[in-house]
Amino acid sequence: MSGPDSPASCYLIQANGDDGRGGSRPWNVVVDLGSGSFGALLRYLDPSDIDAVVLSHLHADHVVDVTGLEVYRRFNPNGALGPVRLLGPQGTRQRIAELTMAGDAAELDASFTFDVIAAGHEVHVGPLRILPLEVWHPILSYGFRISGPSSIGDGTVTLAYTGDTDSCDNLHPLARDADLLLAEAAFQEGRDEVRGIHLTGRRAGALAHAAQVRRLVLTHLPPWNDPQVIRREAAAVYPGPIDLASPGDTWRL
Ligand SMILES: [Zn+2]
Repeated sequence: MSGPDSPASCYLIQANGDDGRGGSRPWNVVVDLGSGSFGALLRYLDPSDIDAVVLSHLHADHVVDVTGLEVYRRFNPNGALGPVRLLGPQGTRQRIAELTMAGDAAELDASFTFDVIAAGHEVHVGPLRILPLEVWHPILSYGFRISGPSSIGDGTVTLAYTGDTDSCDNLHPLARDADLLLAEAAFQEGRDEVRGIHLTGRRAGALAHAAQVRRLVLTHLPPWNDPQVIRREAAAVYPGPIDLASPGDTWRL
């Protein structure tokens, strides 16, 4: 859910690279668009510059602000912006149709070009390579291994995003040797015993350690969590740098 200091899940991935498009504008991929996030996103880019939206799963805290993007594109006073790529799990189109109360298919197609993502099938957006792997959550959910050109050096860098998940086999290949692991940590050790939904700080830290990532960023903390408790859980098992995500934070890879 959103909290007093943060909207729900939304992450902006930017990369430079020509890849046939020309110009100097970065490629912009929005990963998840949870409650309250569309307004916050306006601080960082013009929505007409979004190249693709990628949804990890269809829970409300990861998708409902697609409705804001839809209105922005369709009713823009400067003219409709046309369709933008929207990639998500099976059922994404129907989910968005329900949320927007779209009257017919043409309404949705005016704003989005839908693509279904599938486990193990890499998606390309400009210079970015996005590999979805299925993770462990109550509904079909993906984590993403995202690779692209470094913005501070030569070569390729990798960001791994867990999406919503408990520990599972796919998290290791997802995160292996990543420059940055963006891991959800909604649960707290000793408090949230149910399995198959979320990581704890400790489980996120154990993943970061096993996968030998260079940096761990903890996110998706509900407002009832004490962030420092979750951070300490992770630090007990992962010796590398740990950040707590907050709105507007930026990492350059
Ligand atoms: Zn979820």
